[in-house]
Amino acid sequence: MNIFIDGENVQTEKSFDVYNPINQEWLASVPDAGKKEAKRAVEAAHQAYNQWKHTTANERSAFLNRWFQLIEDHTDELAETMTKEQGKPLKEARGEIAYANSYISWFAEEAKRVYGQTIPASKPDKRILVQKQPVGVVAAITPWNFPAAMITRKVAPAIAAGCTVLIKPAEQTPLTAIRLVELANEAGAPPGLINILTGDAETISDVWLSDSRVRKLSFTGSTEVGKLLMKKSADTMKRISLELGGQAPFIVLPDADLDKAVAGAVASKFRNAGQTCICSNRFFVHESIVEPFTEKLKSEVQALKVGNGLDSETDIGPLIDQGAYEKVIRHIDDAVENGAELVTGGAGDASDESFFIQPTILKNVTDSMLCMTEETFGPVVPITSFTDEASAIERANDTPFGLAAYLFTENISKALTLSEALDYGIVGMNDGAPSAAQAPFGGFKESGMGREGGPQGIEEYLETKYISLGL
Ligand code: ADP
Repeated sequence: MNIFIDGENVQTEKSFDVYNPINQEWLASVPDAGKKEAKRAVEAAHQAYNQWKHTTANERSAFLNRWFQLIEDHTDELAETMTKEQGKPLKEARGEIAYANSYISWFAEEAKRVYGQTIPASKPDKRILVQKQPVGVVAAITPWNFPAAMITRKVAPAIAAGCTVLIKPAEQTPLTAIRLVELANEAGAPPGLINILTGDAETISDVWLSDSRVRKLSFTGSTEVGKLLMKKSADTMKRISLELGGQAPFIVLPDADLDKAVAGAVASKFRNAGQTCICSNRFFVHESIVEPFTEKLKSEVQALKVGNGLDSETDIGPLIDQGAYEKVIRHIDDAVENGAELVTGGAGDASDESFFIQPTILKNVTDSMLCMTEETFGPVVPITSFTDEASAIERANDTPFGLAAYLFTENISKALTLSEALDYGIVGMNDGAPSAAQAPFGGFKESGMGREGGPQGIEEYLETKYISLGL
């Protein structure tokens, strides 16, 4: 597969291979773009910006709607590509295409609602006008866990606002991303509106971040790389949105509806084999219900089928690669060595080159174990108990991260006061799957800055201009 710069299909001398995480089967080769291509892409996006910023909101909306329709028409093909390169079950991959596309339809509408303001002036012969304008060329650097949605979440609001885009998808999952751009071109994207490059991340991003024509960075990935890119954006003072790591607490109060809590735990923990940044990572369950909660969860978890994502029965696919697999095993081993009890799972199938981990529950974990201090990014539920709510909230907040938190209770007053006390950008209140295109997604603290989705999502791609009008 080839990349796209200025609407053209581009090849490079060197390429790199993409493999299926299930068995290391070769899937495709993609271009290994370097400095030259990265620079050409900036030039193309910059030129295209000078046209695209003058289009009307209705024109931008119409393009996004055409792209939406083509993605919907190609759902099965895109989902299969995603399952092959990423490993997630086909039903989840189809779900992701619909979810990714929901950002396109949402921002096709939001494009028309970029409102300005008039503010009463303090002198009779003055008027204060506030306008919103596109920020300019946007660089989007995305991870492998949601190969489609992480792209549309950035590209759709950028295009709706009047920006043009440079994309660098994750090296593990470039195929879905390239196909999405091909469909955008089929939908009539003008040359240079959406450019996509695959290749060495640092080489490409260094060119983009040092170029003052690139006015905005939108990044999803690890906190470590996010901080690095934030520093590199400082010299040209780019606008930045960062969606980084999480360490989500999952708190179950004594009056929780246990069925809801268990369903929420399964939804928040096992999607994408536990490889989402809002996956629940630390389970705090009131001591009075910790046993029934664990038993109920165990029977649900043991029913989950691990296997090839292309098999319609599969609930949990492989982890993305060897490094991810080893990290999860290290977390389980560390917990067991330090006194946690294995309730179910634990054994990785290391007999071949695939990266499967059986869904695992650990109980009697302590706050200092690796599975409680680092983001596991795998299908592991570490359970600890608490006696009073204040200490549960304190422990939940005791982390540098602040993306998503989950709280289960039937008491509405506690639901509200405790969610207000959680230092997190997203609270799933009796809800294990809070993401939605119309809601602002993003974190506090070292989980990042800025929001994706919702009315807030387009603001990230807009500059505010104040015009002081003397009459
Ligand atoms: P993950 O742990 O999810 O792979 P990363 O932060 O390593 O998260 O990767 C997210 C995205 O950032 C990918 O597209 C990756 O290629 C890119 N990336 C990784 N390292 C760098 C870097 N040093 N500079 C720029 N981009 C990077």
